[in-house]
Amino acid sequence: KQAQVAISFYSSGRDALHLRRLSLINDLRRATENNQLSVCYQPKMTLDDERIAHVEALVRWQHPVEGPISPDEFIPLAEHAGSIRQITRWMLRTVIRQCRAWRDLGHDIGVSINISAMDLASGDLPANVRALLDEFAIAADRVVLEVTESAVMRDSAIALDMLGRLKECGVRLAIDDFGTGYSSLSHLKRMPVDELKIDKSFVIGMADDSNDATIVRATIELGHSMGLLVVAEGVENSRSLRMLADYRCDMAQGYLISRPLPAAELTAMLVSHNAMLAFRPRTPVAP
Ligand code: C2E
Ligand code: MG
Ligand code: MG
Ligand code: MG
Repeated sequence: KQAQVAISFYSSGRDALHLRRLSLINDLRRATENNQLSVCYQPKMTLDDERIAHVEALVRWQHPVEGPISPDEFIPLAEHAGSIRQITRWMLRTVIRQCRAWRDLGHDIGVSINISAMDLASGDLPANVRALLDEFAIAADRVVLEVTESAVMRDSAIALDMLGRLKECGVRLAIDDFGTGYSSLSHLKRMPVDELKIDKSFVIGMADDSNDATIVRATIELGHSMGLLVVAEGVENSRSLRMLADYRCDMAQGYLISRPLPAAELTAMLVSHNAMLAFRPRTPVAP
C-alpha cells in the first residue's frame, strides 16, 4: 500500500512538472515581445594585471507569475520548443547595442554571448552578427561567441561549418563548460576556437580538492599548448584565484570578482575597479 501511495505521489509530482514545462514553453514564445527578458553582465578579469576589459552576457527571465526563472531551466525548454533562435537574436542585438553604449561612455569592453546548438544549425547567424556589428560600429574582435562542446558534437559537420563562417566575420569563439561534454581532444583540435572556458564544477572547489586542482592545471596547459586563451569560471575564493595565477591561467570569472550585474551596475563596478587599480601602490619590479 505504501508503495502505491509513493507511486501515485511520484507520478502526480511528475505531471505537475510536466505542466510547468508546458506552460513555461508557451510563455517563452512571448517573453521577448513582452519585455520579460533582461541581461546581466559578469566581468572576466585578466590575472596578470587584474584589469576588466571583457564581460559575459547572461540572459534573465522575469516571469509575470513565477518570478525569476534560471536560464539553466528555461534555455533547454527554449531549445526544445524552437524559441531559442528568437532569444539569441534578441541577446545579440541587446548586448552589441550595450557594447556601443559602453564605448560611448569611454569603456572599451568586449562582450561574450552564449550560443546554443540550434543556433549553429541555422544559416542566418553569421549574417545577423555581421549586420549588428555594422549597425553599432563594433569591431568584430570585441565579440566572443561561447558554445558548449556538446553543441558542436550534436551535428558535428554542420556545426563546424557554421563556426568557420562565424570566424570569417572576425568574431572570436570560445568553448564553454570545457570538461563536462563528450568531445574528444581530436575534435577540439578541429574546432576554430580562440578561448577555452574551464567549467566551474572543477574550479569552485579546486583549493580544497587536489583532483580538481590537477584537472584545472592540466586543462590550462592543454589550452595553452593549443594556442588558446584560458578562462576559469566559478572563481569563488581568493585561494583558487591565487592558484589560477600560479598556473598561468589567463582570466578568471566568478562571484569573488563579481556576480552578474545589470548594465548600469556593471558600469559603476568598472569605474570603481579601474580607479582602485590606478590608485593602488605598484609593487616595484625587481631589477
Ligand atoms: P555559462 O555560460 O557557463 O555561464 C556561467 C554561469 O555560472 C552563470 O549562470 C553564472 O551566473 C554562473 N556563475 C558565475 N560565477 C559563478 C561562481 O563563482 N559560482 C557559481 N556557483 N556560479 C557562477 P547563469 O547566469 O544562471 O546561466 C546558466 C547557464 O545558462 C549559462 O552557463 C549558459 O549555459 C546558459 N545561458 C545563460 N544565458 C544564456 C543566453 O543568453 N543564451 C544561451 N543559449 N544560454 C544562456
Ligand atoms: Mg557561457
Ligand atoms: Mg560556462
Ligand atoms: Mg554553464
